[in-house]
Amino acid sequence: MSRLPMDRRRLLLGGAALLALPAGAASTRKSRSAAAPPPVWPRASPVPGGVARLSLGPAAARPLASVGGSDPAQPVLVLGDAIEWTAIVGIPLSAEPGEASISVQARPDAAPRRIAYTVAPKQYREQHLSVAPRTVDLSAEDQARYERERDHLATVTATRTELRPDASLQMRVPVPGRRSSSFGLRRVFNGQARNPHSGMDIAAATGTPVLAPLPGRVIDTGDYFFNGGTVWLDHGGGLLTMYCHLSRIDVKAGDQLKTGEQLAAVGATGRVTGPHLHWSVMLNRAMVDPALFVAG
Ligand code: ZN
Repeated sequence: MSRLPMDRRRLLLGGAALLALPAGAASTRKSRSAAAPPPVWPRASPVPGGVARLSLGPAAARPLASVGGSDPAQPVLVLGDAIEWTAIVGIPLSAEPGEASISVQARPDAAPRRIAYTVAPKQYREQHLSVAPRTVDLSAEDQARYERERDHLATVTATRTELRPDASLQMRVPVPGRRSSSFGLRRVFNGQARNPHSGMDIAAATGTPVLAPLPGRVIDTGDYFFNGGTVWLDHGGGLLTMYCHLSRIDVKAGDQLKTGEQLAAVGATGRVTGPHLHWSVMLNRAMVDPALFVAG
């Protein structure tokens, strides 16, 4: 008797790509899924820099969820429908392992309830890189520039729009190429410890087209001290993506992109050791591992 909702749920959470497959391929997938449920996007990985998927149960309307911390609470992305809602919580790289929780309300005026989860420990490796000295020991002028850019980016990352109702969060890789597993590495530039690496680096030649991984709206473009030529996309619900070190930018703020539309070209601008795409994914203002959103 609970069979129907479960099938429905699988379809909702993992079925979008399956529906787009030819009939033969879809039935292959279906028979395989009898043994193992199809993947859901993003995949759950409740570690610092990962994603927690928390069941909120059934409800007539989409519940409101938020995650605390020292800053004002951040709204959390909620997927699903009346049969089952799921909170998709981005966990910052700086999170301490242990108990954490979100606050959930059925309506804005309803009493909040807490849903707890555990952040498992994950030890990221250390990586040593050699870069231009002026990008590690900043001049007073560059420091002032960096601080202006940091303040500007704080307003960009505060963007919050509605999630599109048919949202599938499985992302297309923005450029083909070797995907490094460098997310989260504790970085040491020219012998000095700096912030951990908060994105995925994809090796590609300068000029390689960068494609939108999901439908989204361009919310910022610019040339930044560390990130070089940069584009930010808003996918709704607090899910943002960022593309850095670009040699060329083909879009402007306000443009609406479909999946696969070209937004820029790979380059080697900003603090880099060579041409590549740096790709970041942000959920509830936490940078999380892009690998959780892509197949393979
Ligand atoms: Zn990078």
